[in-house]
Amino acid sequence: RFITFEGTEGCGKSTQLSLLAGRLRAGGAEVLETREPGGTPLGEDIRHLLIHAASGQGMCPQAEVLLFAASRAQHVREVIRPALAEGKTVLCDRFLDSTTVYQGAARQLPSKEVNALNAFAVDGCLPDLTLVLDIPAEVGLQRARQRASDAPDRMEQEELAFYQAVRQGFLDLARAEPERFAVIDGTSSVEAVTTAIQSVIAERFPE
Ligand code: C5P
Repeated sequence: RFITFEGTEGCGKSTQLSLLAGRLRAGGAEVLETREPGGTPLGEDIRHLLIHAASGQGMCPQAEVLLFAASRAQHVREVIRPALAEGKTVLCDRFLDSTTVYQGAARQLPSKEVNALNAFAVDGCLPDLTLVLDIPAEVGLQRARQRASDAPDRMEQEELAFYQAVRQGFLDLARAEPERFAVIDGTSSVEAVTTAIQSVIAERFPE
């Protein structure tokens, strides 16, 4: 079973991912927690290039989308597919939908090429469930700015319109593919979001 977490910066997906991993493990499941960009040694090097490296300054959107795709291609083949084949539950912080939304909808690369790159990278390895933690753009930007004051990084310097485009991008994907997606209100308390995720999992994967 393959579950991905998506949403704008600061939506709480990383917190909820590790909480879900803990609950699933307590129930006896073998769980792999991973993230994108990253998840493999090559992927983590690419993550560094994308997020922190000085060489990332001035990176054109075309180079950026190819780096995300390279990280994902390696991740699927080296980590995700083998783990699923061993019967593990894979929880991934961001996956192909982040590329559709960030590089496609928000940075406005043509969706035809972005979708083709995504398909090439994942080779049919698609999530069974994608949880979108939805928060208003203002909240995302505010949370990101708080983080950026600790450790500024290139990708956190975005504006409100960008956050709005990202939020809308995820909502549009969820509407187009309701059988794969579930949208969860990320503005409620950590406990309430956890409860909402739990009921989605129970509903989508009845044992
Ligand atoms: O997962 P997290 O919120 O930490 O994402 C790190 C940064 O990478 C975010 O600021 C997000 O804007 C950016 N990102 C991106 N395109 C992707 C995935 C993430 O611009 N495909």
